[in-house]
Amino acid sequence: MIRESLNSRYDIALSELEARTCHSWKMRLDCSKVMTDVVTISGGASPQPIMRSAEGCRITDIDNNQYIDLCMGFGTNLLGHKPHIVQQALIAQIAKGWNFGFSNEGQLALAELICSAGASNERALLCGSGAEATATAMRAARAYTGKDVIGVFTGAYHGGHDQSLITADSEHVSQKVHIGLGIPLALDEVIEPLVYGSSSAFQRIRDLRHSLAAIIVEPVQSSEPKSHDGTWLRDLQSVCHECGVLVILDEVTTGFRLAFGGAQERFSLSPDLVTYGKVMAGGLPMGSVAGRTDIMKVFAPKDESPAVFSGSAFGGNVMSVSAALATLSFLREHKDTLYNDLDSATDRLTKSVNARWAAANAPIILEQCSSIFKLVFKTPKTFASKHDLDDARRAEDTFFVHLLDRGITLHTSRTGYLSTAHTHEDVDFIIEAMSGAFNESAADGCFANLQTS
Ligand code: PMP
Repeated sequence: MIRESLNSRYDIALSELEARTCHSWKMRLDCSKVMTDVVTISGGASPQPIMRSAEGCRITDIDNNQYIDLCMGFGTNLLGHKPHIVQQALIAQIAKGWNFGFSNEGQLALAELICSAGASNERALLCGSGAEATATAMRAARAYTGKDVIGVFTGAYHGGHDQSLITADSEHVSQKVHIGLGIPLALDEVIEPLVYGSSSAFQRIRDLRHSLAAIIVEPVQSSEPKSHDGTWLRDLQSVCHECGVLVILDEVTTGFRLAFGGAQERFSLSPDLVTYGKVMAGGLPMGSVAGRTDIMKVFAPKDESPAVFSGSAFGGNVMSVSAALATLSFLREHKDTLYNDLDSATDRLTKSVNARWAAANAPIILEQCSSIFKLVFKTPKTFASKHDLDDARRAEDTFFVHLLDRGITLHTSRTGYLSTAHTHEDVDFIIEAMSGAFNESAADGCFANLQTS
């Protein structure tokens, strides 16, 4: 696999990486014969090492290379990888067994913790993942309102189930777009794409009030994590309430990350239903739907009326519950300082890197909200030729190779998360690595032809 001609800094970095991560390269080839792993195999030109272990903010691959991690389990590990309190809770639980199916004793305390995170969380239901939570919340909204259509916003992600993979291009919003193949056309009937951040969405909601059961909205989109003051979200909520359309606030990424009370607290929102996942179980799989008692009753009506189905073999499993209890108790106890410190560390990271890139007139920026950030290449939205598109892709791949070569792992989705385990020195290291990766790519002329938009 090692290239024969070493023409550019990119070639040098890539060949160094390939040599250092030779077991990952070999395993990726072997894997492709028997398994389909989109995360590991489809890394584009930037090689993704195969990982063996992780602790704090560091992750180690199967060749024993250590990196400072910015993926952090897709943002699930707010307290770092393998935090002591979660590890202790899991060890204690392993001795007692790990999936009962029946209710377990930690669930009540966990539901109380979730309900303490926001005034709208009057009751909580435990699920196995974020996607299960959003699909379940949509079903509950339909049952409660007796209406079928759910409004979803451009640029949104609500998990890997069919209904959340229908969206629209922000410029041609009436045309529905499926993310990938295999989504039944019939589902288009019950999904209404709306433009995120727009007031045109408000009029559409008013027009569709008789068929729209709910809208589901990410308070900060992972696809574009920008800071804002919540005005648009509060206006959206007022329009929905005025129209009898429920608001499902998808806090799978923002819950327990923007604040202990998530975006609900940060932006003073009062949604009807809230979905959680990610941070809540400290890296273990879990999700939750919380919300108003009258709506949540659809899952377990007191009388003989039919219920809304919810449940899965892993929903509320005892291992995830133990991890979630340890994580959420810690976060609630330290919320007054922990979130400020984490946000300040991320501010310092993005401001320093962006200042250096701005000084170099670099077509690249870190967008940020709280401790979520995204690497954005400011390349044109449309390309004059395939050659220009290839140039843009090459520039991005080159940047990633140099970043990895400098010991930083960022998922190719380009969204990163800081954790409480990243120290001041780690942040300094990331700042140097990010600006160094850009300088190396620029020295190869990668960004020279890219006109910024
Ligand atoms: N909603 C949002 C906002 C998410 O970011 C995600 C995951 N990235 C999901 C739902 C789905 O969660 P999971 O991957 O746990 O199914």
